Amino acid sequence: MRVSSYLLPTLKEVPSDAVVSSHVLMLRAGMIRKLASGVYNYLPLALRTIRKIEKIIREEMEAAGAQELLMPFVQPAEIWQESGRWDYYGLELLRFQDRKGAGFCLGPTHEEVITHIVRNEISSYKQLPLNLFQIQSKFRDEIRPRFGLMRGREFIMKDGYSFDISKEAAIKSYEIMNQAYHRVFTRCGLSFRAVEAETGAIGGSLSHEFQVLAQNGEDSILSCSCCDYAANIEKAQCLMPDEKSASVELDHFKALEEVLTPGKKSIEDVAEFLRIEKNRLIKTLIFTADSLPVAALIRGDHDLAEAKFKSLLACNELLPADEKVIEQVTGGPVGFSGPLGMKSDIPLWVDFSVRPMMDAVIGANKKDTHLWHVYPSRDFSEKMEYADLRAARKDENCPRCLKGRYEMFQGIEVGQIFYLGTKYSEPMNAFVLDESGKKRPMVMGCYGIGVTRTMAAAIEQSHDDKGIIWPMSIAPFQVILCPVGNDDLVNQAAEELYQELKERKVEVLLDDRNERPGVKFNDADLIGIPIRLVIGKRTLAENRVEVKLRWQSESFFVDREKIGDDLVALIQANHG
Ligand code: ATP
Ligand code: MG
Repeated sequence: MRVSSYLLPTLKEVPSDAVVSSHVLMLRAGMIRKLASGVYNYLPLALRTIRKIEKIIREEMEAAGAQELLMPFVQPAEIWQESGRWDYYGLELLRFQDRKGAGFCLGPTHEEVITHIVRNEISSYKQLPLNLFQIQSKFRDEIRPRFGLMRGREFIMKDGYSFDISKEAAIKSYEIMNQAYHRVFTRCGLSFRAVEAETGAIGGSLSHEFQVLAQNGEDSILSCSCCDYAANIEKAQCLMPDEKSASVELDHFKALEEVLTPGKKSIEDVAEFLRIEKNRLIKTLIFTADSLPVAALIRGDHDLAEAKFKSLLACNELLPADEKVIEQVTGGPVGFSGPLGMKSDIPLWVDFSVRPMMDAVIGANKKDTHLWHVYPSRDFSEKMEYADLRAARKDENCPRCLKGRYEMFQGIEVGQIFYLGTKYSEPMNAFVLDESGKKRPMVMGCYGIGVTRTMAAAIEQSHDDKGIIWPMSIAPFQVILCPVGNDDLVNQAAEELYQELKERKVEVLLDDRNERPGVKFNDADLIGIPIRLVIGKRTLAENRVEVKLRWQSESFFVDREKIGDDLVALIQANHG
């Protein structure tokens, strides 16, 4: 490819609406252009990288026994009604009607469609295991599309689905995909970690996310300094508190008492007013889970891990209750809720770390009033259930090995795998006959990789102030060849080398523009091509070529006769 005729609209200025590096650099490198909020055109340079990531994915999926198919982007409402997701998927699902008034949506994911295919085509355990995948655009009407391709509304995803006869077989399929995902991201040249994850809207019970480590990552990951436990902070377990203190003689406890706290609603205000530490307070958070009120009790200095609470309740939607609901349920105004003497009998879930608290403070469900001298072990009813509800923190002890401490990383989720069980096969009637002729629901797994997000994550992880530094395996071109000095002989020599490299299947971009060297070099750095070759009058006279690797600061010289062999070796050595 020649730069003079290639659609490569690089920009000098930093676009004003871009904040993260990958977004800025993809715009500046002429890779993407916005068409609508969260909807982007992929220009030729970006598409080359996308195709490379896709190729790696295809090779690894096929090596792991998966088969590629292609499902429609437009999906009928009926199958979503069958799975039960039409009503609760929420506003991310872009729904519309055709001219006859039939309901449709743009596919945000394809569990329903694939289950529909497989239930019609597969009837016996002998046809299992089956693993199918596709690479396609997805649409999710994200509430806040941002950071360019990182969180778009339309984006390219590889989604795969496995079908097995039993749980054991399905876990095996899951493990095979887990290994394949490790190979995909390793081959993409990324530094990543697989971490335990919550299952969210897709559902199921076992899940790992593949997180690319990057400062700008939206996700926080906690990982043990000693063992290999690592989890998204949404999911990371907390060590059970030491409960010895709770068994102190009950007679020493003070009697429960009301205390006036006029206008003091927040944890900070109450703690300051009563001159106690925040960890002596218990906050009572009221939510609606699929429209039913429920409360979570957390120590004042802790945060609720909403995703943990949601998966504990196994609900589809968990929302903070509004003022009206809070008043109805508790009998008191917002800011004074507590677990004792509520007006309605709602489920009360208490975090483990609340149980050993001594002489604590809770809301009294009454205006301007709290209760103090609360001892959960004495005062909380049997009906309250204890669970791990709070968000774990950096430096806390690891709950698995008990030796290490949590370290925190920021990550970009580029892939996620789920063990689904029969969440879709049962409601959608995807059954097969087993060995004994009995009908059984197929046991499923699903596996996603954000192709366009992976491209963005690679840039987040590898760039400098001049531009992108592509890993060789996903670089749009491996080599950029820059003749400098605007000299006929130089241009001719560059042309010859260009042809030679093309013949050797090196992916080379020839910067044949009549531009100053500085302009060419800046663009080469910006678009991040791993190897830059320079031919000028002097190097030509010396029968040499200057080689500069994008990730190194110094260049070096190679004899003209040797350059082809050396480049091929260099590309291979860098996993190109
Ligand atoms: P997130 O938590 O970031 O919203 P998700 O967990 O909803 O993502 P999955 O359903 O697991 O996403 O989708 C599989 C993969 O698709 C993700 O790991 C991610 O790489 C990619 N992906 C999801 N949403 C987006 C988006 N809005 N823009 C770009 N890529 C996305
Ligand atoms: Mg996910």
